Amino acid sequence: MQSRLFAMLTVFLLSGLSGCFGGSGDGIFGDGEELYGVPGGLTLACLRSDGFDSMVVEIDYSTGYQPDSSTVSTLKTRLQQVCDKPGGIDIELTETNFDHQGSWSADDVREIGRDTREGVPQDGNVLRWHLLFPSGSYENDGVLGVAVDASTAAVFLDDVREAEHWSTRPSAEQIEEAVTVHEVGHLLGLVNLVYQSPRPHEDPDHPGHSNNEDSVMYWAVESGDISSFISNDVPDEFDADDLADLADLASGELVASDQLWP
Ligand SMILES: [Zn+2]
Repeated sequence: MQSRLFAMLTVFLLSGLSGCFGGSGDGIFGDGEELYGVPGGLTLACLRSDGFDSMVVEIDYSTGYQPDSSTVSTLKTRLQQVCDKPGGIDIELTETNFDHQGSWSADDVREIGRDTREGVPQDGNVLRWHLLFPSGSYENDGVLGVAVDASTAAVFLDDVREAEHWSTRPSAEQIEEAVTVHEVGHLLGLVNLVYQSPRPHEDPDHPGHSNNEDSVMYWAVESGDISSFISNDVPDEFDADDLADLADLASGELVASDQLWP
């Protein structure tokens, strides 16, 4: 009972927290012709195989911030579960100097991400998404990860490691894994970012997030509140409603808006 009260209290304290997806708003243009798009803007490009038959997730990390091997393998498994990529999904890890001091804004992630990536998101028949694991924190306290455009997200391991200290469980590795899958879930358009689900699983108090504590898209996964999960287990899987949304988007049963492709 006590842990439930604590969790509810924390929900209250953090309810004013800004979301972990989006950024500077609509109509985001990058350099030249390429559109940055919104998180979820390349959902169909991932879910379907007719435009892109393989996928690369580029993970660039500051020295000392390489994601755990379990994070990499779980991320790959989750993407393979939902995205139709007969040519395979590869994860490419590169130690990177982001040449950035201090806190990160969404614009920093978007612009430095574009400067440091190896290839464009729509690269022939290869879909490329880009995850940054930089040193430093997001500008808003208590945000462990952000998805900033259609192909780019960041995970802030300094804050992940700090979140671990609030509790003996879950471990920093578990939190890192959950936050990484959560941000990629936003790139997949979850929850209701580029569609309207017929299943009522979006938390009205936390737009873009699940109301199910057992979904990796549960709102608290993004926040420093993660260690107050009542069960002490942090979900790293999409739940049945998340998977049904993605299946309906892939089949065309649900209409996806704001797509950069097709
Ligand atoms: Zn989120």
